[in-house]
Amino acid sequence: MDMSQFCTCKDRACPLHPTNHDKGCTPCIAKNRKQGEIPSCFFRQLRDESREGYTFRDFAELVLESES
Ligand code: SF4
Repeated sequence: MDMSQFCTCKDRACPLHPTNHDKGCTPCIAKNRKQGEIPSCFFRQLRDESREGYTFRDFAELVLESES
């Protein structure tokens, strides 16, 4: 699978974006786990827009919003 097509993250300037290396999602997920965050593709699956925060709490709130 071509990860650069699979990834919905709009930040292609990010050095961890799959278009900028050949390691797929691994660097992105490692960074997010280290920072207590969730990758933007999960947020974009629920709402396709940029946002301020990507914490676990931000994601939980977005899930609850999307279900209400
Ligand atoms: S985990 Fe990161 S690199 Fe992989 S698809 Fe999601 S945002 Fe893109």
